[in-house]
Amino acid sequence: MFNKIVNKYKNLFSSSSIIRIHPDVDNGITPSSNNFSGGVLKCHCHKNKVTVRITAQTAHNHVCGCSKCWKPEGATFSQVAVVSRNNLTVSSNNSKLHVIDENAAIKRFACQKCGVHMYGRIDNKEHPFFGLDFVHTELSTESGWAAPEFAAFVSSIIETGTDPKDMDIIRKQLNDLGLEPYDCLSPALMDAIATHISNSK
Ligand SMILES: [Zn+2]
Ligand SMILES: [Zn+2]
Repeated sequence: MFNKIVNKYKNLFSSSSIIRIHPDVDNGITPSSNNFSGGVLKCHCHKNKVTVRITAQTAHNHVCGCSKCWKPEGATFSQVAVVSRNNLTVSSNNSKLHVIDENAAIKRFACQKCGVHMYGRIDNKEHPFFGLDFVHTELSTESGWAAPEFAAFVSSIIETGTDPKDMDIIRKQLNDLGLEPYDCLSPALMDAIATHISNSK
């Protein structure tokens, strides 16, 4: 009986203390800067880094639990934002990039050497998010990027190995950080998709 109780507590504490959402949110979220107008994303290679120049503030930044977005080592979620494709250029070592999955709606351009995803682009003009590129602003040393606002595809972290028993505590942790957890995208983005579909009928 005593052992049972000890184990129960052990499980409670071990599960709650080891869950790392993402390094950019685990120690509190840095607020966005008002007059921020972009920066340079760099891959993780020690030399000949792929760099991507962004000339605008990003939008809709969020943590994402899907299995497709790039995550830093040890993180349960990725962090991903969008920016107009007109504001994004690969500024060095473009030749190191390759597309992870040519058939995916979002083509994720990753460094072949270090594996970091530098940007995601949609080619299908009918797609609701056509014109927007997907980026991980933690790859930049500049601060002031749009802060994450919510958590998307939270239930999907089970597919990449999270114990379903930990979901309550993870959702609580997200709420405590001010990142409301959703199992698809946020209502604003789901509405934008539905509006696009409705208008294109
Ligand atoms: Zn690299
Ligand atoms: Zn994702």
